[in-house]
Amino acid sequence: MNAGFFMNILFPAECLACGAPLARGTLCGTCRMCIAPHRTAFCGTCAAPLPGLRSICHPHAPHLLGAAGDYRNAALRTLIHALKFGRMRCAAEPLADVLIHYCARLPMDLRGFSVVPVPISRERMRERGFNQSALIAERFARFFGAPLRTKLLSRTVHRTAQSDIPDRDERRENIRDCYAAKEFAGSGICAAGRNIILIDDVTTSGATFADAVRALRSAGARKIFALAVAKAR
Ligand SMILES: [Zn+2]
Ligand SMILES: [Zn+2]
Repeated sequence: MNAGFFMNILFPAECLACGAPLARGTLCGTCRMCIAPHRTAFCGTCAAPLPGLRSICHPHAPHLLGAAGDYRNAALRTLIHALKFGRMRCAAEPLADVLIHYCARLPMDLRGFSVVPVPISRERMRERGFNQSALIAERFARFFGAPLRTKLLSRTVHRTAQSDIPDRDERRENIRDCYAAKEFAGSGICAAGRNIILIDDVTTSGATFADAVRALRSAGARKIFALAVAKAR
């Protein structure tokens, strides 16, 4: 076996989004450039863009929403599908980089925040073998030197995948009370008093974030920045 063989395992020779040949990495320069067009954060209640993070529409929204790109972007969607449905773990790397790039440009100080991935149910975990949001959150947290708290929030109920429900009201109903934030195993690590960056791959109706934020808030979390790689609304 030669070195090239190992290199091809570590780095696919093609861009994961468009298939262009690559010397290294997982995403070509062109896809990287077109994938993260958003330059603002958004209102956690109505998803309106908030230039300069000034909240005029809903100043008391329970969380700030962040989304690096648009789900209609073909390259971004291809990467998310590769990770989630094609089970290609290596797609988490460019997706995390998209989030990192987006956050680095926001006028926001992320120091003092803990990173929490949106959990998936045990059934979904068995099916997929990993939590795609946790893979993205891991790389994101490492980059910013932020503590990663994968067990701070748990998914207590397994229901139909949100992506299988077209109706917005039904999505809200489907996700209600699915999450719980608890101190885990006497470790003293809990949501109380913490600022949290909650990470998910895609946000559609905002119902998942709203329910997870509700659980974290009732456990005493302070500022919450709900951050998705792509926004579909
Ligand atoms: Zn490409
Ligand atoms: Zn608003």
